[in-house]
Amino acid sequence: MGNITLDKVVKRFGDVEVIPPLDLEIADGEFVVFVGPSGCGKSTLLRIIAGLEDLTSGHIEISGRDVSHLAPGDRGLAMVFQSYALYPHMTVRENMLFPLEMTRVDSRAANEKVERAAEVLNLSAYMDRKPGQLSGGQRQRVAIGRAIVREPSAFLFDEPLSNLDAALRVNMRIEIAELHAKLGTTMIYVTHDQVEAMTMADRIVVLQAGRIEQVGTPLELYERPCNEFVAGFIGSPR
Ligand code: ADP
Ligand code: MG
Repeated sequence: MGNITLDKVVKRFGDVEVIPPLDLEIADGEFVVFVGPSGCGKSTLLRIIAGLEDLTSGHIEISGRDVSHLAPGDRGLAMVFQSYALYPHMTVRENMLFPLEMTRVDSRAANEKVERAAEVLNLSAYMDRKPGQLSGGQRQRVAIGRAIVREPSAFLFDEPLSNLDAALRVNMRIEIAELHAKLGTTMIYVTHDQVEAMTMADRIVVLQAGRIEQVGTPLELYERPCNEFVAGFIGSPR
């Protein structure tokens, strides 16, 4: 179960209301993309869900549980960042085992989880390499592997491909979509790239100045944008 409910979520930094009251329902297993121009509040919203930023007011539920005041580690989520944050002195296997060392999972079960994640991500041949001996795409896959082994109820991605070159970005887009199909786990994916949003999302949430302009499938947004902003941003004729 990985359904996520945002109920009148507000975020202020000092006097500035970056997220005005915002409601959103994400179903278990959905691939939802937050898209919008730089500075519109995508990362802030994701960080609020992850617990990396405090809420100013409102509530967040994950799998029916109010997590509004839980620490990030207690929310059952895994966040994948654009910088890979891998340990350079550890092998791929050690990097992927690391998140499990803090948990009660015994070492045999931990190794099995890592091997399974490596298979899903086509990393099995690289397990004894260090991050410096990997390509950018492989490093990104290891970062995703570190999230998978924790078996989160949802994955949160903040522009995970923005450090990759254009060709690799296209490949990784397909890989993440395939990963979603294999795991069936809820994913929230933040990007400022309309093409990424249109090609990856079950549903797109278009944000401007912290407000939701429209929520819909890629086809709905393309065929029936609710205003000029969405039409212009998604790039449909009007
Ligand atoms: P995006 O990810 O869509 O580019 P952000 O969520 O990073 O946007 O930022 C949204 C707004 O909140 C921006 O105006 C940004 O300057 C502001 N902001 C983000 N983090 C902080 C912070 N820690 N303190 C003050 N303002 C912030
Ligand atoms: Mg951002």
